[in-house]
Amino acid sequence: MSESPVGGRCDCGAVAGPLGVCVDYYHAILSEEQADPRMYRWHAPVVCAYLLQHPSGAHEKYLDGQFRQLQLYLDKGLDALLRVAARQVARNGHRARAGYDMSPLAAYEPLPTGGPPGHFRASFCGLPFRGGSFVFDGHQAYGRRIELIAEATVESWRSIQAS
Ligand SMILES: [Zn+2]
Repeated sequence: MSESPVGGRCDCGAVAGPLGVCVDYYHAILSEEQADPRMYRWHAPVVCAYLLQHPSGAHEKYLDGQFRQLQLYLDKGLDALLRVAARQVARNGHRARAGYDMSPLAAYEPLPTGGPPGHFRASFCGLPFRGGSFVFDGHQAYGRRIELIAEATVESWRSIQAS
């Protein structure tokens, strides 16, 4: 898809994998999860972590909410994040104006200024992909890998605040 020579580097600082840089992995995940409802459960953390690791392709005004969603996910788990996301969808459906209900996320830290960080210890282009699938060893194992990327994302963004 994108021009990504083997051994190249992604914007996030990660070394490209067999599929290319992170955007190639991201598109492959979005494609596979469309056909797999269990895999799709991790859609929100995948999107948030990807955009926070590659903010040049993101809408800056949403990054703060995405950073808080990842913190909620790591703090309370996937089901809690899905409940918040479902409430937001319902709310947007009932009201004409689109907007995020920030109240469940208000307790979490805002996105630090001065980013993005230049390195994350877990990246999308480091995800294993075997037999044409990201869930080749089961959904829980896949979910654990997404959680590690989410942890790495929050950790690196927090580190710029501390420095
Ligand atoms: Zn990347």
